[in-house]
Amino acid sequence: MKQKILFIISDGMGDLPSKKLNGKTPLEAAETPNLDKMAELGQTGLMHVLKPGVIPHSDEAHLTLFGYDLKKHYIGRGPFEAFGLGMHLKHGDIAFRCNFGTVSKGMVVDRRAGRIENVAELCKKLDNLKINGVQFLVKPGTSHRAAVVMRGKGLSDKICDSDPNKEGAKAEKVKARDKSKQAKFTADTLNEFLKKTHEILEAHPVNLARKKKGLKPANYLLLRGAGKMKQVPDIKKRFGLKAVCIAGAGLYKGVAAFVGMKILKVKGATGTPKTSVKAKIDRAIKELKSNDLVFVHVKGCDVFGHDGNCAGKKKFIEKIDKALKPLIGIENVLVAITADHSTPCSRKDHSKDPVPVLFYGSMIKADSTDKFSEKKAKKGKLGVLHGKKFMKLMLKMTGKA
Ligand code: ZN
Ligand code: ZN
Repeated sequence: MKQKILFIISDGMGDLPSKKLNGKTPLEAAETPNLDKMAELGQTGLMHVLKPGVIPHSDEAHLTLFGYDLKKHYIGRGPFEAFGLGMHLKHGDIAFRCNFGTVSKGMVVDRRAGRIENVAELCKKLDNLKINGVQFLVKPGTSHRAAVVMRGKGLSDKICDSDPNKEGAKAEKVKARDKSKQAKFTADTLNEFLKKTHEILEAHPVNLARKKKGLKPANYLLLRGAGKMKQVPDIKKRFGLKAVCIAGAGLYKGVAAFVGMKILKVKGATGTPKTSVKAKIDRAIKELKSNDLVFVHVKGCDVFGHDGNCAGKKKFIEKIDKALKPLIGIENVLVAITADHSTPCSRKDHSKDPVPVLFYGSMIKADSTDKFSEKKAKKGKLGVLHGKKFMKLMLKMTGKA
């Protein structure tokens, strides 16, 4: 019987002891009978997702855990965001993540245009413009967000952002970051695009209506995270895995789509703390029948970590644990549970602290740990792991290596 892999990443789950939780981490403080059962019957360890001492960004961490080399295969946040919105990028495309912002007299008044709820109508008017022979694709994301793609000959990603990243600052003219002809051409073309889209947006009925109501117009594209698309060997070619992704938030779908996972839509999967973890896990179990690897991303812990809300994080871990109940006793499946980085509530940001790892399945011999936590994982049989070897380890455990 072929062993399958269920790979669950609980984003930002790792944490540090907190006074608010009587000196425990959210994972230690949470009541997690199912995780603990799996830890008791399986093996645990601690993992440095990137190099020890390095604080991971989510996209880098995911790409690494999928078995890809950051130096060779990382193409930047912009392309991943575009992939996450279902855009089909071609080799050589330049992609950006984008905020619809409010700019007045060249100054950024609001980076989120008063948190406009939807920019789909606005995007329609901007999509498919052509400037200097370069095609521009614009696709809406959630609320004020979108992705922008430049397609054409002689483009470079060695250019600066148009987003100054703070309010009250000048909306930047895009500049080249090196002396190449390509970078200059890309920056010039992009500046023309920004000017043109600003004019279109100023006159757009959605914005005229917003102004009438005293709301801030979404009249400027703030671009950042330029990256150049390049094809990489997909996960099927690289590891022989037919793989699918179940995630709510765009970035994770983006990285998964980039490596060739099929993105599944699951009702109730939102990429927020309100998500239905149960719906995700139930669907994952079904998908294991026809796939070699099912990747499930759960965002909630990271959100609570950034908010500094350790009680909320603890509760969310309990919600995850409940959803995992059907996995107890599952046959011919390696269940791998970990995080892409720690997001300690005390830091309200990602940290370099290693993350706990749990392997459970009929092929895994129990080690002496009986609870899933940062502290206990340290003593687990898996020892100290490194993210770049994680995919190979999962393959080895399931006899696929
Ligand atoms: Zn993350
Ligand atoms: Zn985060």
